[in-house]
Amino acid sequence: MSVNVLFAATKARWEEYRDPLHAALSEVGVTAKIDIDMAPRQVDYIVYAPNSEVQDFTPYTRAKAVLNLWAGVEAVVHNPTLKIPLCRMVDPALTQGMVEWVTGHILRLHLGMDAHITASPGTWRPVAPPLAFDTRVTVLGLGELGLACAEALKGLGFDVAGWSRTPKDIPGITGFHGLDEALARADYAVLLLPATSDTENTLNARTLALMPAGARILNPGRGPLIDDKALLNALDTGHIAHATLDVFRTEPLPPGHGYWHHKSVTVTPHVASETRAAYSSKTVAENIRRGEAGEPFLHQVDRRAGY
Ligand code: NAP
Repeated sequence: MSVNVLFAATKARWEEYRDPLHAALSEVGVTAKIDIDMAPRQVDYIVYAPNSEVQDFTPYTRAKAVLNLWAGVEAVVHNPTLKIPLCRMVDPALTQGMVEWVTGHILRLHLGMDAHITASPGTWRPVAPPLAFDTRVTVLGLGELGLACAEALKGLGFDVAGWSRTPKDIPGITGFHGLDEALARADYAVLLLPATSDTENTLNARTLALMPAGARILNPGRGPLIDDKALLNALDTGHIAHATLDVFRTEPLPPGHGYWHHKSVTVTPHVASETRAAYSSKTVAENIRRGEAGEPFLHQVDRRAGY
């Protein structure tokens, strides 16, 4: 028995995914026809990216699941035509990429790498950087990515705490259920929350003011987690010493945006972690196998919570 899989993402992605998806499905023993064009009534699974042309799921009457290629689902989770399970992307490469981006950018700031790179004899200023043991990092969001980053930072010696919707008991990581306490101790705050109505403006004028003077912020989560005006104000006063931002309310970040030229902001172009076909195809294939075997899907989104 063969299943029909519609690949509903951009054309460029199809070139990347065609072979890895076929290989991953055959590895899990599923015979499939995969294509970018298929009569909707014949589609069993939709491999999906929210920037796809497919925005109305109504014609896909026999489809069993939408398998999102992105970890973030805010652009599809509230689609009123979506009545079947929605699964998001979790794969080891996505997690590893995020761990590398977060640890790399924290170490850059922590070690003062920019200031210590001596470009000329006049820049020889030997000031010892602080140690990780004496530096407190709070990770907001302890899901697949946040937890992996928290563990990696703990491994580097940082004093790590985390905040999540449901309380967590993680050895060596201080768990907070209250945001205010979590931020009040944060020399660094790393935002790895999903974009939902509850997380919008998690960092705002009030919560930024709770952070210690000179704190730094890293946002590889989603743009709406931060009230941009409040962050720019806090950067102007120096209360927040630096923000390293990978995601924005509008992407690409518009040319006139205040973040571009602020001396205390580092902008990266939504590269913190990329979905790589060789790895994410395996997650997709395993979910199709599960769907066919009548087993529960992995990483199914809670539509009410929005992530
Ligand atoms: P996840 O596994 O769903 O984890 C989300 C975490 O956020 C969970 O710990 C969850 O708490 C917590 N959370 C959700 N709502 C909350 C609230 N109202 N208050 C407190 N905590 C809340 O997601 P993930 O895989 O780690 O990914 C996180 C986000 O990273 C994605 O949604 C996406 O936006 C972003 N991302 C960015 C890139 C990039 O390249 N920049 C790449 C991939 C992903 P519970 O544990 O209690 O559920």
